[in-house]
Parts: sequence; structure tokens; C-alpha cells
Amino acid sequence: MNDILRIHDLAVSYGHIEAVKGIALTLNAGEITALVGANGAGKSTALLAISGLLKPIRGQVLFDGVDLTTLPAHQIVRKGIVQVAEGRAILTTLTVGENLALGAYTRKDKAQIAKDLEWVYTLFPILQARSAGLAGNLSGGEQQMLAIARALMAKPRILLLDEPSMGLAPLMVQEIFRVIKEINRTGLTILLVEQNVRQALRIAQRGYVLETGKIVIADSGANLLRNPKVIEAYLGG
Ligand code: ATP
Repeated sequence: MNDILRIHDLAVSYGHIEAVKGIALTLNAGEITALVGANGAGKSTALLAISGLLKPIRGQVLFDGVDLTTLPAHQIVRKGIVQVAEGRAILTTLTVGENLALGAYTRKDKAQIAKDLEWVYTLFPILQARSAGLAGNLSGGEQQMLAIARALMAKPRILLLDEPSMGLAPLMVQEIFRVIKEINRTGLTILLVEQNVRQALRIAQRGYVLETGKIVIADSGANLLRNPKVIEAYLGG
């Protein structure tokens, strides 16, 4: 399997609190990798370090032979690593269409941008129906869709998703996971951070379990779903 991103001994601290304590993780090209764990385990912190929004105290994030920890966040985005933040960070005073156009701001390939817009509207028909409306008027689930769609407009090589199902009604959660799977079918590599452990492991080829800043189990998604420790701690077993 072709690894596209390799993380070695990544550690991140907030002042003297080490939230991520030297983790190792590999993303295989074209796969969904799930990073799961309880509230406060350090999942978001790890993602922020990969996308350059937090500087680690040690370790490397190797992508295309480059250590991303040496680059500023905007250069990491230009390399194709795009994060959909927890809490959705869409621009509520702009229209849905304007938010999507902003997603493509680093690109110049106009014809391809138009094709990608068609594709994201196929993935999320509701966004096409609402394209002229303000993003702030969308429901929570629709805003999450817009945040993912906007990230796709940047044409990422790796999509980092932080808790995409957080706070959504059950039907919307199903819809979000369905779409993540569909996006992955196009070959896009995805790192999926989730507290919804069962759903995440169902769609992920591989998964890592993070507990208080350390990776305690790494295995295929299928094996993790039947791992007694995972069942007991995260699947209500
Ligand atoms: P959640 O699902 O709640 O986001 P998480 O697994 O993503 O959980 P993090 O948000 O990465 O966990 O937090 C890891 C640890 O770092 C926690 O103990 C948290 O309290 C602490 N932490 C997170 N952000 C900060 C911050 N800005 N300043 C200080 N400590 C922080």
C-alpha cells in the first residue's frame, strides 16, 4: 500500500500540558483512516498540527518527502492538505455559492473548478438548491455539508475532517457518513477524526485509537470494530 502521509513521534503541547504525546500514524493513499477516541484525547490537536495551525514541540509530518512541520499553514493548504474544522467555520454572511467559490481561491484552472462545482452539487443537491441563499440560514447539517463541499473545491489531496457528525440529528449523521464514503470512492485520501467511533470505523479502512494523547491501538477498521477493548470503551459493549 502506498503511504501518502507519515507521522513520526508527533508531540504538541499547550503551555506545559502535552496534549499529543509522540504519536505515529500513516495514511495510505486513497483510504479513509479514522482517528477515534474520547473527548479531550487529543484528536483535534493532532489534526491542527498536521495542517500547521499548531506547531508541534517535536516530531515530523512527512508528505511528498517534505516535513510539513517546517511550513506555515497556508503552504500546507497549497500542497493539498485541507482541513474541515470542528464547528464548521463557514462564512455565514456570504451565500452558499460564494462560500464554495472561496474554497477554490488558490486555483486558476477555471474549467476544472466549474466541473468540481458540478460534482459537489451532485454530492450535496441541497447546496445547489440553496446556492443563492445566505450560508447562515442553512441548518447545522447543511452547514457541515457546505464546510465539506468548500474544502473539496480546493481540490485537496488529503481531506482532514474534524468531527463532521458532531451535533447533528441521526438522519443527518447517516447522510454525512454516506457522503464521506462517496468522496473516498473517487480516490481521495481522508483522515477522519470522530467521537462517533462505530460509524467512523465502519467506513474506514484503517483506524487509530487515541487515549490521553497516545495511540493505544492501530488496526483495520473491521478488526477494531470487533476488538474487545474498543467494544468495551467506545461501542457500549
Ligand atoms: P474533542 O473531541 O473534545 O475536540 P479531542 O480529542 O479533539 O477532543 P483536543 O481538543 O485535541 O481533544 O484536546 C486535547 C487536550 O488538550 C485536552 O486535555 C484539552 O483540554 C487540551 N486543550 C485543547 N485545546 C487547548 C487550548 N487551546 N489550551 C489549553 N489546552 C487545550
